[in-house]
Amino acid sequence: MLSKICFFCKKEDAKLSARSKYVFKDFIFIAESIDIEQKDKKIMPIIKRIFLLFILLIALNNCDSLLNNDISEPKGGVCLTFDDVYVNEWYKLSNLLKLSDFNATFFISKIHSLSSSEIHNLRKLDSLGFEIGCHGWNHINAVDYLTHYSLAEYYNVEILPALNFMNKNNLSPTSFTYPRGMHNDSLDQYLLQKFQVLRCVTLEQVKPLTVNVEDISEIFIKKNKSQIVAGLGIDKQFKISEDMLYNALERASENDEILILYAHCPVDSNAQHYQINKSYIENLILKCEELNLKSYRISEI
Ligand SMILES: [Zn+2]
Repeated sequence: MLSKICFFCKKEDAKLSARSKYVFKDFIFIAESIDIEQKDKKIMPIIKRIFLLFILLIALNNCDSLLNNDISEPKGGVCLTFDDVYVNEWYKLSNLLKLSDFNATFFISKIHSLSSSEIHNLRKLDSLGFEIGCHGWNHINAVDYLTHYSLAEYYNVEILPALNFMNKNNLSPTSFTYPRGMHNDSLDQYLLQKFQVLRCVTLEQVKPLTVNVEDISEIFIKKNKSQIVAGLGIDKQFKISEDMLYNALERASENDEILILYAHCPVDSNAQHYQINKSYIENLILKCEELNLKSYRISEI
């Protein structure tokens, strides 16, 4: 693709293929180089104009067809997120993600427990363009905590120390994910004053899954419509096969929706419990490319 603004119709996001542009340039060149004999001076400019008009019409037609097909900017996408403290494993995974320009968000919890080299790697993930979100100072179950304490106390104990620690390390999180997915409406409203986006987990996975993944509406969102989103767990223990995941990706593609996913610890092979095989993530990336799905950091949704 050569330009974001159409050379001919000036429509934004129009994509003019290299072939079209070169064909157009070639015809211009041919038209300009037509030798005008003195005796044809009156006729040739007219022929040139007709010729150019003809080429312009072909190019505009080409542009419109490109505007309406799947080469255009994707609207649907995937928001891949990771939770907890697996900084070194996330950092190793970043090579794979970067190879495909695939965005992801890493939600760190218990940041005070990280070694200096893990903090260094977390900052490197940030500098590579990945989003670093907050997942709590001590990974507290918010709903349990709020049965005895106020929202402000929760914030002062679980959120503020994490934000202060992250800020001191040049990290400025704009998103938060609830430990164990536990939250309520009043907490959501309170924390939306502090963060742009809050992520929880789909209730469908609290118990053995009984519905098709593509039918879990809460894990699919339209862009710029939601600040509180629910993710689909794709660690080994959730038993979401690649075929099940593909069905969800296909729905996102067909409906221009963003699929919210979360996992914990990526491993090379033989994933267990809250781990996910890198091959699973590789195939997710390939399927997204096939379906022209964009990868979003969570604050971009
Ligand atoms: Zn967690």
